[in-house]
Amino acid sequence: MSARYVQPLRILIQFSFLCFTLLLGFRFYHFVMYVRGTTEPVARPVGIEAFLPISGLLGLSGWIKGLGINPIHPAAVVIFLSVLAVSLVLRRSFCSWICPVATISECSWKSGFHFFRRLLKPPGWLDVTLRGIKYLLLIFFVYSIVLMMDVHALQAFIMSDYHKMSDVRLLDFFMHISPAALGIILGLFAVSLLLRNPFCRYLCPYGALLGLVATLSPFRVTRDRTICVSCGVCSQVCPTYIDVMHKKSVNSPECIGCWRCISQCRAQGALSMRVVGKFTIAGWLFALLVVAVFYGGTLLGKTSGYWHSAINSSEYRLLQGRQP
Ligand code: SF4
Ligand code: SF4
Repeated sequence: MSARYVQPLRILIQFSFLCFTLLLGFRFYHFVMYVRGTTEPVARPVGIEAFLPISGLLGLSGWIKGLGINPIHPAAVVIFLSVLAVSLVLRRSFCSWICPVATISECSWKSGFHFFRRLLKPPGWLDVTLRGIKYLLLIFFVYSIVLMMDVHALQAFIMSDYHKMSDVRLLDFFMHISPAALGIILGLFAVSLLLRNPFCRYLCPYGALLGLVATLSPFRVTRDRTICVSCGVCSQVCPTYIDVMHKKSVNSPECIGCWRCISQCRAQGALSMRVVGKFTIAGWLFALLVVAVFYGGTLLGKTSGYWHSAINSSEYRLLQGRQP
């Protein structure tokens, strides 16, 4: 069976998560307005903690060092671990099936291609140098959070007002965005019309971490040299510039498991997603697994009691009053 259906399916899943994220943002905005006394009571949408990956890393580090899962933003830890689990099992598929930032980025470069009829590709040396930025950022976060903060420092930071209000601060950052930050975001958006996923490829430390974890995944795009007709389409359509046509299997940390190469392959059966190099998996099953592992991880957090924050609306209101 042709894998062409996988792209519409992936786009449907991407947009479902994007809509869900917008809904979360909208409900969180109303919650903050309620805390500030301008609207009726609204429950805080816990899923907003997906936007606190640094809190997730802090919480995970604290958990590993014996503090348990912190009660301030437990969902940030649960979601962080769920994303790591998706990457460990199913490559960096979180980036191409779930992440709303990557969805917007993909829409941008596709629109840019539609409009300009071409996209730019940086020369190899520049591409490699720029890709290093996301690893440097990752090293910085791992060094300053995992290595430099002992249990006392972690505990103090996790229980600080700053950390407690990190979700509200993030909303305020976007609601009252500075001209400099807005300029950077618009600049990135403009570059995203000309290059494929520049933010994900060069700047996102989360993506760097997921890529490294994904190298342990048993799933790989695999090419059957006896069927391949060397047309080069797979290498052309790969959003991360992997030269699929010349690989036996793809284990690059840049592979985001998007299936574009498999969907557009000219020789049916030449490319497939295989588990441990042997078993071919259907696109619909891969899609189901991506959603199930991610959602299953969050469900596990909910049912085991590591989901809702210990900070209630009254404390949010109190902390709100203390904000500078
Ligand atoms: S190798 Fe295939 S699955 Fe991986 S990023 Fe490129 S197109 Fe997507
Ligand atoms: S698209 Fe398919 S047939 Fe063409 S080079 Fe890639 S694997 Fe071979």
